[in-house]
Amino acid sequence: MFTISIQFFGELLNFLAQAHQQTIQYSTDKLASIKDAIEALGVPHTEPSWVFVNGNVVDFSYRLQANDQVKVYPANFQQDAPLCLRPARQNYQFMVDANVRAVAKYLRLLGFYTVTDDNLPDEKIAKLAAEKDYIVLTRDIGLLKRKNVVHGCFLHSEDTETQLQAIVDRYNLKPYIKAFSLCLVCNGKIQLIDKQFIAQKVPADVYETLNEFYTCPDCERAYWKGSHYDKLQQKLKGWT
Ligand SMILES: [Zn+2]
Repeated sequence: MFTISIQFFGELLNFLAQAHQQTIQYSTDKLASIKDAIEALGVPHTEPSWVFVNGNVVDFSYRLQANDQVKVYPANFQQDAPLCLRPARQNYQFMVDANVRAVAKYLRLLGFYTVTDDNLPDEKIAKLAAEKDYIVLTRDIGLLKRKNVVHGCFLHSEDTETQLQAIVDRYNLKPYIKAFSLCLVCNGKIQLIDKQFIAQKVPADVYETLNEFYTCPDCERAYWKGSHYDKLQQKLKGWT
């Protein structure tokens, strides 16, 4: 056995027992990886963005050695070092766990393909996310500790709009936002449709007042720029 010292920063402290809020003296055997140590202390491997050992940035394969001084930072503690804990993202598609289900609609509103399935057990969520390269969003620490969840994000807040803001900030999504481009229910790509083809799906007073209508080609829902649209535009300014 030998001992290392390890310090967590920012929102990573939320995962630790109260006694661990300062530098932790952690004892381990010589085979432990830095990833094992971080998770043993309660922090899922998806949450750190940078790990430094004795001042040098390392990846998760680093094997601990006696007297190592480890510092672990979350995404919002920008560090002057390369991101090397997981592969860079090529896209921003999300898989939303049932415990944060409400954020899915908001992500689609911003134009991000987002899947939900309230009936899937953790094992299947992890498998599907790995196969399809989805980012897993959840408040379930155990789900994020699964080995095959590579990209995941623990949502610290229980408030949906605060969750959305945290996701936009963590993944720097602002340049990729295409608001009102996806169906809020099924992720279909919304298209403009000639008014005459949508009369049956729109309330009569709306149909008479407006001339611009949209539809989802997949589930055939109708969309229009009514009063809800103005409210959402206002909210968008706050989020982005
Ligand atoms: Zn749809």
